[in-house]
Amino acid sequence: MDGIYESPDLDALAALDRRVQDDLAALNYPPKSWIPPTEKPDGGEALDVVIIGGGMGGLAACFALFRVGIRNLRILDRGEKHLEGPWVTYARMETLRSPKQLLGPASGLPSLTFRAWYTALYGEAAWERLDKIPRAIWMDYLIWYRHTLSLPVENRVAVDSVSPEGGLLRLALSGDGTEDRNIWTRRVVLATGREGLGAPILPDFIAMMPRARWAHSSEAIDFAALRGKRVVVIGAGASAVENAAEALEAGASEVRLLARRDAMPQINKMMGIGSPGLVAGFPALSDEWRWRYLHYNNVAQTPPPRGSTLRVSRHANGYFHFGVTIDQVEEKADGLILTTTKGRRLETDFIILGTGFDTDPHRQPVIEPYADNILQWRDRYTPPPGLEDEGLASFPYLNSDFSFKERNVGQTPWVERIHCFNYGSKMTLGNVSGDIPAISDGAAWLAREIAARFYSEDIEHHWQYLQDYDTPELRGDEWTPSDLPDSTLDGES
Ligand SMILES: Cc1cc2nc3c(=O)[nH]c(=O)nc-3n(C[C@H](O)[C@H](O)[C@H](O)COP(=O)(O)OP(=O)(O)OC[C@H]3O[C@@H](n4cnc5c(N)ncnc54)[C@H](O)[C@@H]3O)c2cc1C
Repeated sequence: MDGIYESPDLDALAALDRRVQDDLAALNYPPKSWIPPTEKPDGGEALDVVIIGGGMGGLAACFALFRVGIRNLRILDRGEKHLEGPWVTYARMETLRSPKQLLGPASGLPSLTFRAWYTALYGEAAWERLDKIPRAIWMDYLIWYRHTLSLPVENRVAVDSVSPEGGLLRLALSGDGTEDRNIWTRRVVLATGREGLGAPILPDFIAMMPRARWAHSSEAIDFAALRGKRVVVIGAGASAVENAAEALEAGASEVRLLARRDAMPQINKMMGIGSPGLVAGFPALSDEWRWRYLHYNNVAQTPPPRGSTLRVSRHANGYFHFGVTIDQVEEKADGLILTTTKGRRLETDFIILGTGFDTDPHRQPVIEPYADNILQWRDRYTPPPGLEDEGLASFPYLNSDFSFKERNVGQTPWVERIHCFNYGSKMTLGNVSGDIPAISDGAAWLAREIAARFYSEDIEHHWQYLQDYDTPELRGDEWTPSDLPDSTLDGES
């Protein structure tokens, strides 16, 4: 937590802002726009891109698109200003799991890194002392990133649907952050985060439970109300452990984590093997290899962070139970009775589901009417016996520009103009649009690929521009043409 208790050096931060501007100027940022205008159905100009989501992914995508001269865009987030993403809403860990040195959304600019920002505010010594990044500090950094780059996020604007209209995509909007109720764009980027192509996983038994008795970890939870209460947390991943810690710290009388797995995983495989080679190489691997990697990772499972686990173990009334599955839950006047596969019964007052999210285009409401025609991994690849995994099979099978592919080609061609820049791209393109480590790589690919699509779609315009372009580089006064000398070769008569 070093640094956050020290007074920030606002002059140094202002100097860093100037350094960012200098760096951008040195990179000739922003480049000129080059995309011809497109008319929308009600007259006026359509947008080129709409980014749905103003979290880290949306910000990185917006900056990357600006850097390739795609500037006719809007970036919309349904959340409150400066509360985008999970960091200060439902994330409950004290610090990020990601190491502080990661480059995150800095996009190759040293002045945009978390390190540059933190060091400007709190000094080199505080940077040296900093162990892991407190999550609220990370949010502060993202807020600075957005403002120093003047990224035009519009908050309190929810996109309710994306549908095809007149060769464009029409987005139906709600929320008081804009008066627009419909906008038209050529392409959409779904920068909608961890649950951006899915929804919380809810076990079957929960449907029978009164809503006041349970919550998913991604919801707002009144932890103060759990004081003196018995709490069961389902799962033993990061979210489960962090919610258990939060309940214990709020004064729950006991917190029991129930995990199906027989033991706590201890090795974070994919984080450990991360490298530029993996980032660059993963999308080029065969379907077999990509499946094998992610299936292996699912079986190995990702451990919760050490700090979060110790946060639970600090409390004598925090318990980890492994190899437990819930068969049945009954409601009694004074709580819930859980029957587990081990035949044991357990009484509790409240259940927190640390069960994570699934990833399936059918579960993203804005594309729901045509999600059936979005190609998924199950349509393209049948794993060998023993490597089956319904969770992986539900991921979309994407194009290299993060856009969806059609299951039946020609039925919903507009899906190829919707780019899945969220956790859902992981199976096809690797972890380049879901977490901090490679978000700048993902954003740069996205921007380059979108630029390429626009250029080829508008080839008639660019061809005409090539022919019409008539600004001389030479004025005609720089040289004088002369005749070849009339010489004879040696030996000739
Ligand atoms: C509890 C938790 C802890 C995590 N910890 C880490 C970590 O330590 N390190 C790490 O690398 N990653 C971590 N992650 C993953 C984390 O989600 C990403 O790194 C990061 O938030 C991804 O940014 P994003 O912009 O893709 O998504 P988000 O930050 O989730 O932003 C998505 C945004 O989209 C908006 N949105 C969604 N749908 C709509 C709509 N229809 N209309 C308008 N707006 C919409 C939301 O309001 C949200 O602000 C964590 C995730 C969770 C859930």
